[in-house]
Amino acid sequence: MKLTPSIPTPYYLIDETLLEHNLTILKDVKDQSGAKILLAQKAFSTYAFYPLIASYLDGTTSSGLYEAILAKEHFGKEIHVFGPAYKDHDIETMLPFVDHIVFNSNTQFHRYKDKALNAGKTIGIRINPEKSTQDAAHHMYDPCSITSRMGIKLQDIDSSIFPACSGFHFHTLCQQNADALEITFKEVERKFGAYFKHLRWINFGGGHHITRADYDREKLIKLIRYVKETYQLEVYLEPGEAVVLNAGFLVGTVIDIVHNDFPIALLDTSATCHYPDAIEMPFRPNVVGMDDEAPYQVRLAGGTCLSGDNFGVYGFPQPLKIGDSVIFEDAALYTMVKTTTFNGMPLPSIVRRDKKGNDTVIKSFDYDDFKGKLG
Ligand SMILES: *Cc1c(COP(=O)(O)O)cnc(C)c1O
Repeated sequence: MKLTPSIPTPYYLIDETLLEHNLTILKDVKDQSGAKILLAQKAFSTYAFYPLIASYLDGTTSSGLYEAILAKEHFGKEIHVFGPAYKDHDIETMLPFVDHIVFNSNTQFHRYKDKALNAGKTIGIRINPEKSTQDAAHHMYDPCSITSRMGIKLQDIDSSIFPACSGFHFHTLCQQNADALEITFKEVERKFGAYFKHLRWINFGGGHHITRADYDREKLIKLIRYVKETYQLEVYLEPGEAVVLNAGFLVGTVIDIVHNDFPIALLDTSATCHYPDAIEMPFRPNVVGMDDEAPYQVRLAGGTCLSGDNFGVYGFPQPLKIGDSVIFEDAALYTMVKTTTFNGMPLPSIVRRDKKGNDTVIKSFDYDDFKGKLG
C-alpha cells in the first residue's frame, strides 16, 4: 500500500473509497428493505466524514449527550439517543434537538416522558430479549448476559408506558450475521409481540456486520420486509462497525528492534493507546504485507511502558528494519473514539485519503492535548 512519506506517523488513514463502498452496500439494504439506517457514533465519530456518511444514511444514534451534540453540529438528519441512565441536565440539553429518545428503565421513562412528549419527541424503551447469540468469550459485549443492565425484561414491562411509548429498541449483537438477528427477532416477537400494536417503530440496534463479505443481506432484507408488512412498523438499524469496516488504517513506524527469544519491533504507535480493542476484545489486527507462514517472525509492540502493550506476533517475508512503516488494517472502528494519552503517548493524527488517492492531514495533535485533560 502506497503511503505519503511526508506525513509523520503515527496516523489513522481513512480511505473514502473504502468508506463509500460500505455506504453503497448500506444504501442498497435501505432501498431494498425500506429500513432506516443510522450511524452508531460510538464506533466512529470522526465528524469530518459525516457529510459523506449523511449523504447515504438516515441519521445517527448517540450513547448520550456529547455524541448527540456532535450529531446535531455535524450530521443533522434524524438524531436518536439511547443512554443507560440520563441525568436531568442531559435531557434538558438534548430536548431541543434530538428526535428519538430511548429509555433503559421504567423509572427513567416515567421521569422524563412528559417533558419529552411536550417537546414533540418520539420516545421508546429498550427491551432485553434474554436471548444470547454470542459465544461465552464475548460476555463483555453481550447485553443479554445474566448480569446485563441493558433493557427491560418481559416480566418488567410496565403496561402504563403505552401509548406514550411508541417504539422498542433492542441491541444484542456484536459482529454477527443475519442468522443471529433472525433468532433474536423471533424471540422478541414471541415475548413482546403482544405489545407491537402500540408501536410505530422498532430498532434492531447494531452489531450487524452487514458490509462483511459473507454477511447474508438477503436474509436481513427479508426479515425487515416481514416486520414492516406484518406489523406496519418502521424498522431502524444502527450499525457502527459495519459503516467503517475495513475503511481505515493505523500507520506507525519501527523505532527500534530488541530481542527476547525472537525480534520485538518497538513502534511509535501503541495497542493500548491507539488500538485498544486489540487488547480488550482481544484480537490481532491484520497488517499490510504480513505472511504468517514466512520464516521471519516478529512481535509488534507499542511505545508505552505497559508490558502488555503488544499487537501480537506476525510473520513477514523480509525482516523489519528501523524506519519501516507498519500498517494495521481495519483501524477506523472503535479506535479514534477510544484513544488515550496514557504514558504521555502522542495521539495519532487523522488523514483523509480522497477518491483520487491523495492524502490530507485533517487533524493533528500535540503536547497540549495530553496536558489539556490533566488540569
Ligand atoms: C454499540 C452499539 C451500537 C453499534 O454497534 P456495532 O457493533 O458497532 O454495530 C448500536 N446501538 C447500540 C445501542 C450500541 O450500544
